[in-house]
Amino acid sequence: MRVLISGAGVAGPTLAFWLLRHGFTPTLVESAPRLRTGGYIIDFWGAGFEVANRMGLLPLIRPRGYIVQEMRVVNDAGKAVVRVPTEVFVEATRGGFTSIPRGDLAAAIYESLEGKVETLFGDRIVHIDETGDGVHITFEHAEPRRFDLVVGADGLHSGVRQLLFGEEAGFEKYLGVKVAAFTVSGYMPRDELVYVMYTQVGRQVARFSMRDDRTMFLLTFQDDDPAIPSSLAEQKALLRTRFAGGKWECPQILDALDHCSELYFDRVSQIHMGPAAGSWSRGRVTLVGDAAFCVSLLAGQGTALAMTAAYILASELRRSGGDYAGAFARYQQRFGPFVLAKQKSATGMASFFAPRSSLGLWLRNVAMNLMGQGWLVRLALGRTLIDRIDLSHD
Ligand SMILES: Cc1cc2nc3c(=O)[nH]c(=O)nc-3n(C[C@H](O)[C@H](O)[C@H](O)COP(=O)(O)OP(=O)(O)OC[C@H]3O[C@@H](n4cnc5c(N)ncnc54)[C@H](O)[C@@H]3O)c2cc1C
Repeated sequence: MRVLISGAGVAGPTLAFWLLRHGFTPTLVESAPRLRTGGYIIDFWGAGFEVANRMGLLPLIRPRGYIVQEMRVVNDAGKAVVRVPTEVFVEATRGGFTSIPRGDLAAAIYESLEGKVETLFGDRIVHIDETGDGVHITFEHAEPRRFDLVVGADGLHSGVRQLLFGEEAGFEKYLGVKVAAFTVSGYMPRDELVYVMYTQVGRQVARFSMRDDRTMFLLTFQDDDPAIPSSLAEQKALLRTRFAGGKWECPQILDALDHCSELYFDRVSQIHMGPAAGSWSRGRVTLVGDAAFCVSLLAGQGTALAMTAAYILASELRRSGGDYAGAFARYQQRFGPFVLAKQKSATGMASFFAPRSSLGLWLRNVAMNLMGQGWLVRLALGRTLIDRIDLSHD
């Protein structure tokens, strides 16, 4: 079977890897002109870590990742008011936890394809026409082609979902927070392996010192208006307004922002396509990763979930002997309830990134302090880090 996968991010190349292994012929189409590298730092753990292990990816991932030692909240003067030692994450996952730039994880997955999967960079699907013998695809640039199946792995703002299921607004749940991320070189001060956060009511600035003298900044702020400014200049201007008057290193970080040419800026949203089995699929087309069920950055696990979903989808297709409809249904039956629970628990985390009141901020800091101290809390936290999904038969 020839399978077209839209999106060479995290879910897309993972699916391509497993489909190739199961004897399918995958093709990737990616709208960016080349693989997107670097980007914001993600925490990578859970069932997706095990999938990466089964792909033989850990030797590629570990050297590019960081084992963060501490999460630190600082006050106006830069003095630590909360310190959370983070070894609990590593302990609870038995070493299956790393923090890595999203693009580096995506690149490691893509490298594992060893050039065996055709990839159309700088292109996208503009029309999908399903007939009795397959799916006829019109691309923006390449010649039209026929495939047996199509998978949308093209992220939160999925083009495949839009073409087949309708407007994003029908599925998007905006969580009232916006996020911006950028990296710069040569920023001082540095705190190696410490994730430093400065939080005020409604907004937070975080920085993380990376290798090669790079520093990543993650800015989150509460905003009831879901509109995103379209140009880079307007996005920077909005951030300047929303972080004006901030103490600590805010003025210096806003100056660094002025000089960056690449900025990630988006709404913090989830995608809900409905719990019914089959709601991620239509005919010969299905969705995977953020395109189907974005949990948002609040879950801290979107990449691992994207990889696990891709793994299960490939496994169900292998088992189905051509019954793709059955495979799509079983894929969602197995993964849908699991990811729905992740979405639910993630929505409660908005106050971590942009607390709505002084009380909310105080409570968050108390909770973080407890995380670092009480062994019972550490035990409970450890339990929440174990993904209860059975991959033993895949
Ligand atoms: C700031 C931030 C912090 C995060 N932190 C974490 C974290 O700590 N841990 C974690 O696990 N996850 C985290 N996430 C979530 C994680 O990044 C996503 O869940 C994950 O990348 C989803 O993978 P994906 O392959 O589904 O989509 P993506 O990684 O978004 O990949 C989609 C790909 O499709 C391409 N594309 C888009 N549109 C089209 C189109 N029309 N045609 C063709 N190609 C297209 C894109 O260029 C991209 O390459 C975070 C997200 C953000 C924004």
